[in-house]
Amino acid sequence: MQTPRGRRRAAGPPSVPRVVEVAAAERPRDPHRDARRRRGPFRQVTEFAAASGIGQKAGIALAATGLVLTVAVPATSPVMATDASGTAPVAASAVSAPPQISADVGAQIDFSRSAVVTQADPDGKLKQLLSAQSAGSVTRAASAGTLAAPLTSLVTASPFGYRVSPITGGSGDFHRGQDFVAQCGTSVLAAATGTVTFAGWHQFGGGNRVVIDHGNGLETTYNHLSSFNVKVGQTVSRGEVVALSGTTGASTGCHLHFEVQVNGEVVDPMGWL
Ligand SMILES: [Zn+2]
Repeated sequence: MQTPRGRRRAAGPPSVPRVVEVAAAERPRDPHRDARRRRGPFRQVTEFAAASGIGQKAGIALAATGLVLTVAVPATSPVMATDASGTAPVAASAVSAPPQISADVGAQIDFSRSAVVTQADPDGKLKQLLSAQSAGSVTRAASAGTLAAPLTSLVTASPFGYRVSPITGGSGDFHRGQDFVAQCGTSVLAAATGTVTFAGWHQFGGGNRVVIDHGNGLETTYNHLSSFNVKVGQTVSRGEVVALSGTTGASTGCHLHFEVQVNGEVVDPMGWL
């Protein structure tokens, strides 16, 4: 005996079950388009996974994202249509919407990826960046936010670049780093995971100075320190206390002079923080 439901589907009158069915049927019709759309984010996630060594988690996150998208996109449309008016035309137009949501699909994958970076490895974004290219070819848009703040509270005292020298009073002084307000004795934090390559006296004005190599051409330096917590060769984690701030070397008062070096050349730290 035929069920009325089966006949109704075949005839195609407006109903929520039919809408879901149509939505499901639309997906396989477009497999190549879906694949193309996801290749960018997928490759990014894959590269991130390779760079940070948490392939499993990234893979799971990607799979989960795909799962959520597959289920959520068709399922929510009929529900919303029913809430709004309950009529078939609205539901049908909602069903045809998924192809137009492609931007949102990408956005959700990106969001999921940053969630993975934050939870599994705060250094993930930086590692991904530096595994893909030398620090020298990284754009400011890509580098922004990849380094952590070297102090718990970041208040700029003097920016990177040309300025009037606080030491000589002369103009045209090139300030090689960013000065942040810090009372002497404030904890100075590693901006990212890396290896300490210098912890000693900087004879060109930095005073007590720590240099951390983050790999692939990227280094950070911490200057005018009152004391060190690390030794050369030591591996430090992002956010680890590497020193206490001070006013040693060419300094007019307690503060932290923080530098970012790319292939040996100083760059604006604010482009990385
Ligand atoms: Zn400075």
